[in-house]
Amino acid sequence: MPELPEVENTRQYLIRSGLVGRQFGAPEITWARTVHEPSVGEFIEGVAGRRVADLMRRGKYLIAPLDDEQYLVLHLGMTGRLRIHDSDSEPPPMVRHTFPLDDGREMRFIDPRKFGHLWLLSDPSDAMSKMGPEPLEPAFTDEVLVEVLGGRKAPIKALLLEQSVVAGLGNLYADEALFVSGIHPERAANTLTASELSRLHEGIVDALTRSTNAYAAARDAEWPDPPTALSPWTIPRAAGLACPRCSTEVQLLRVRNRSTWYCPSCQPSDAGAV
Ligand SMILES: [Zn+2]
Repeated sequence: MPELPEVENTRQYLIRSGLVGRQFGAPEITWARTVHEPSVGEFIEGVAGRRVADLMRRGKYLIAPLDDEQYLVLHLGMTGRLRIHDSDSEPPPMVRHTFPLDDGREMRFIDPRKFGHLWLLSDPSDAMSKMGPEPLEPAFTDEVLVEVLGGRKAPIKALLLEQSVVAGLGNLYADEALFVSGIHPERAANTLTASELSRLHEGIVDALTRSTNAYAAARDAEWPDPPTALSPWTIPRAAGLACPRCSTEVQLLRVRNRSTWYCPSCQPSDAGAV
């Protein structure tokens, strides 16, 4: 599932492909349920003829301000990808939606499982529930992390998945951040010590920075068709594999029904407990 680094990779890909400044034709929507607001008819009419002024990201959402203070908001869902190709080129499989551009190309929303989302709104925040801080912004500090966790008793892994706590983290990078910081995923957030919280902050920033850098390098190396999914984490995600730090076999847990890999030696369950 695309998380912050994958969505940022998509944003950088679209910018480098020259989306900003282009004018959309009438999009072709083949799976109506992707469009949440307004109606499909109004969405098509509202996108057609409007120019893309910019492309921004908030958490896992892409936000394209258009003419007339309208915003196209996109969410890639579980399996979504965006690609810009010449309109007369053979489309890849599973293209669900097509946005023609005024230069003979088109933006294709490839979405095998059809869990992507589209909106056209005058206020992009209407597409998303309350969002926490952006973890790669300088304003995201140790103190901010402490504040958003708010002394809650829930397992730290579960809280990291809440977009209202930290925007853009998902299952893979939450596991990686906890691994890097040596914190057991089921630790109650309110039992984390100041030094553990500081390590966790660093772990989140480190995991996301390493992966956004890996995507940047892959875009350069494989342009114009860069990868949309790398595996730039260090915690192995399969049974029988060894922790790269201590060689203990990694273990699988389910935290709030999400697969959670951790190293029982590097991430002991009682570290820091009083
Ligand atoms: Zn280990």
